[in-house]
Amino acid sequence: MKIIGQEKASFIDYPDKISILYFCSNCNMLCKYCHNYHLVKGKGKTIDHDEIFPFLKKRKKFVDAVCISGGEPTLHEGLYDFAKRVKDTGYLVKLDTNGTNPNVVKKLIDEKIVDYVAMDIKAPFHKYEAVTGIKVNMEAIKESIDLLKKSDIDYEFRTTVCKELLTKEDILEIAKYLKGSKRYSIQNFRDGETVLVGENKLHPYDIEKLEEIEKEIKGDFEIFKVRK
Ligand code: SF4
Repeated sequence: MKIIGQEKASFIDYPDKISILYFCSNCNMLCKYCHNYHLVKGKGKTIDHDEIFPFLKKRKKFVDAVCISGGEPTLHEGLYDFAKRVKDTGYLVKLDTNGTNPNVVKKLIDEKIVDYVAMDIKAPFHKYEAVTGIKVNMEAIKESIDLLKKSDIDYEFRTTVCKELLTKEDILEIAKYLKGSKRYSIQNFRDGETVLVGENKLHPYDIEKLEEIEKEIKGDFEIFKVRK
């Protein structure tokens, strides 16, 4: 499990918990709005596990959870052992995933290694390729969605929205598919130098438009959030 990034304290990544974030290298998608292109390409200094676990032991009194993010963590053969070791150290474990490897997620859920899974829903199914820049096995994505909906762990679906890639109708279509899920979040795109297609190419939604969408779909979920 190659970890090439760390955030030592986050108050927003695990609901109602303080968490430490680890970012693993590489991804099998090339989302146009990705902020983590250096991670996708595996660029960065590897953080040694011998550094990580003594740190986690030291911080246990102050931090509740560890979020394993990326890149795409499920690409790593060592994910299971890493997550289990984190769990055995006494932390809640959250996994961020793009849903392309349902079997990996299933094993982590079945063996009670993860407590929370956040899965990105990139687009309505017919637009996945346009947003992610790759050919996606949509059966795997649907399997991951079903797996989370049927599981009894905490989970969240989330979609990053920008004007150029998703229309309001696209967002409503995603929401229709996910209807009845526990938690769904829409996060507005933020521009920056590290965006995969370059700065000033993509634009966030107007707040009013997001509020309009929120009114239409929030009743379909137990918890619905817009990160403006
Ligand atoms: S935003 Fe897309 S390309 Fe970037 S890490 Fe997530 S899934 Fe991979």
